[in-house]
Amino acid sequence: MGIHSGMIDSHCHFDDASFDVDRPQALQRALAAGVTEQIIPAVKAAWWPRIRQLCRDYPGLHPTYGLHPMFLRDHQSADLDNLHAWLERERPVAIGECGLDFFIDNPQHEAQQVYFEGQLALAQEFDLPVIIHARRSVEEVINTVRRYSGVRGVLHSYSGSEQQALRLIDLGFSMSFGGPITYERAKKLRRLIQVLPLQTILLETDAPDQPDSDHRGRRNEPAYLPTILHTISELRDEPTDLIEEQIRNNTRRLFQI
Ligand SMILES: [Zn+2]
Repeated sequence: MGIHSGMIDSHCHFDDASFDVDRPQALQRALAAGVTEQIIPAVKAAWWPRIRQLCRDYPGLHPTYGLHPMFLRDHQSADLDNLHAWLERERPVAIGECGLDFFIDNPQHEAQQVYFEGQLALAQEFDLPVIIHARRSVEEVINTVRRYSGVRGVLHSYSGSEQQALRLIDLGFSMSFGGPITYERAKKLRRLIQVLPLQTILLETDAPDQPDSDHRGRRNEPAYLPTILHTISELRDEPTDLIEEQIRNNTRRLFQI
């Protein structure tokens, strides 16, 4: 085991208040499970400082800063200027999480689009990858990102079609998968795992949300990432160590970590 081994959780909200009671222990469990690094996506400006502090306090945690579409009510247009300053000063590994969510009540498509595109423009300017949240909006996300040439990134907890995934790959995007693929009834998702090029797949927990089928109804945590790896290995009928190494390389390449 070298310094570059171990699994990377590409999407973990480890700053979430649900970890306030046992964060050091949760991190210890993750390390014991072989999860040595995490990407911590931001959701709103007010919480950027706590992500910065968290990533200073613990090794192996990498910050991103951004404005999540589900937190539209918390955003102000000045937050985009604020984000510019944070990117310039903090040099995070990515921008996000950003994107479009048309599943929420009163989705305010236009306002979501403004924040999403503002962050894509920043991704161009700073040459940083974007972490995209796309719910009921994969088509709109594709049509938006294609207007920002050179922007690369990942669609987290991908839920689109195979055809949409191939278009996203053409545009330089990867897809990350977590708990939902562990449910037998997720036929479409599980088929996607079998057919996508391994070079375009990342692992995530999305903790504390989206627990795998063994932990349904409970708080998810980064220590459960190996279940996602093993599910991918089973579905593709390929050795776990080979998949682990390729996905680690995918993650390092995208985030330059
Ligand atoms: Zn998230």
